[in-house]
Amino acid sequence: MPDVPGRAPLLPDLHQRRRSMAHRFLQVIAISYAVDAAFLALFGLLGSVSPLAFLLYASAGALHVAVFGAINRSPAFERLSDYQLTTLQMFYGLTLQLSLSVLFPSVGGLMLLVTFLVLGFSALTLDPRQGVMAWVGTVLGIGIVLIVLEARPEVPAATATERLLSWLFIALVLGRSMYLGALGREFRVKLEARNRELKVSLAEIHRLATTDELTGCLNRRSLLETLANETARIARYGRPACIAALDLDHFKLINDRHGHAAGDRVLREFAALVRARLRTSDFFGRLGGEEFLVLLPETDLASGALAMDRLRRAIAEHPWHDAYPDLRVTVSIGVAQWSRGESTDEWLGRSDFALYAAKRHGRDRIEAAEEPAADEASTPASSKAAEQATVPSSR
Ligand code: GH3
Ligand code: MG
Ligand code: MG
Repeated sequence: MPDVPGRAPLLPDLHQRRRSMAHRFLQVIAISYAVDAAFLALFGLLGSVSPLAFLLYASAGALHVAVFGAINRSPAFERLSDYQLTTLQMFYGLTLQLSLSVLFPSVGGLMLLVTFLVLGFSALTLDPRQGVMAWVGTVLGIGIVLIVLEARPEVPAATATERLLSWLFIALVLGRSMYLGALGREFRVKLEARNRELKVSLAEIHRLATTDELTGCLNRRSLLETLANETARIARYGRPACIAALDLDHFKLINDRHGHAAGDRVLREFAALVRARLRTSDFFGRLGGEEFLVLLPETDLASGALAMDRLRRAIAEHPWHDAYPDLRVTVSIGVAQWSRGESTDEWLGRSDFALYAAKRHGRDRIEAAEEPAADEASTPASSKAAEQATVPSSR
C-alpha cells in the first residue's frame, strides 16, 4: 500500500508500534524478574536457599533486560521477526528457570512454576504451530530436570514464614498468569477496533474509486463496469433494458458566459435533478465532461424514451435563472434498447448515434436509436464504429 501524503509512512509506523510493544513486554519481564529475585533474597535471608540463588537470578534478569533492551533500540530489531525475538527470550528464560531448579532444589518447585509464565508470555506472539513446539521444548526441558538429572525441586514449607512466602510466591505467579490473559484480551480488542477502522476505510476507498468527485454519481470506470455486468445479465435472462446518453447543450457557452464555477454548479445540479427522477434500480454516471449515461433495467424503448423525455423537460423547465438570470440549460438525449447479441460497445455506439441525431435535429430533444441491422450486430466493422462513436471527445 503506498504511503498517503500527510500521514506517517506505513513502515516506520509499523516498526515504531512493534518497538513500543517489545518495550512494554520487556518492562513486564523486568518486573517479573524483580519480584522473583526479591523472593529469592527473602528465602536466602531465611536460610531456605543459598544467597547465590538471588545473585545468580538477579544478574541473569538484569542481563536479559539489558541485552534485549539494547536489541529493541538497535537497527537489528527491524530485521528480527517477533517470532525470533520471542523464541530467544523464551529460550533464555526457560534455561534460567530450569537451571535454577536443578542448582537450588529447595526452591526448585517455585522456579518450575515460573516456566508456566515464560510459556504463557511467549504464547502471546507465537502462532499455534510455534506454540506447540515451545510447549514440547519446555516439556522436554522439565523431563531432563526431573528424569535425567533426577533433581528434586521443592517448595519451601518447613517453617511458618517459608509457608507464607511460598503461598505469596504462588499467589503472584497466578496473578501474573491472569495478567497475561488480560494482555491477550487487550490485544484482541485492539485488533477488533483496527479491523472495524479498516472496514470503514475500505468502504471510503471504494466510494472514492467509484464516484465522480464533482457530481457524486458513478464515475466513468464504475459506470462502464456496471454496464458490462448488466449487459451480461440481460443477455442471460433476455430482459429488456435501455441506456440513454445525455449531453448538455452548448455547455461551452455556459462556461464562457458564466464562468467555470457556474458550469460546475450546473453539472452538480443537473446530476441531482437526474438522480431524483430515476428509480433505485437505475444506474446513472458521468462519462466525462458534460456527458452522462443512464441505464434503465427492465425498461423497453417506448418506456425508456418516455422517461427520458420527462427528464429532458424537467431540466429545461428547472429555474436555473434563479442563480444566473439569463442561464438556460437543456440536454439532448439518445436512447437505445439492448438488442439480442449486441455487445456493450455496440449498444453504447447506438445510443451515441441517437444522441448526435438529437443534436443535429436542434438539441433539447430525445432521439430513439434504431434497431441494429440483422447482420450488423457483433461484426468487427460495427464494433469499430461503435467504439469510435463512444469515445468522448478529449478535453
Ligand atoms: P454541444 O451542444 O454540441 O454538446 O456543445 P457543447 O458546448 O456542450 O460541447 P463541447 O464538447 O464543445 O463543450 C463541452 C464543454 O464542457 C467544454 C468543456 O470546457 C466543458 N467541460 C468539460 N468538463 C467540465 C467540467 O468538469 N466543468 C465545467 N465547468 N466545464 C466542463
Ligand atoms: Mg455538450
Ligand atoms: Mg459533449
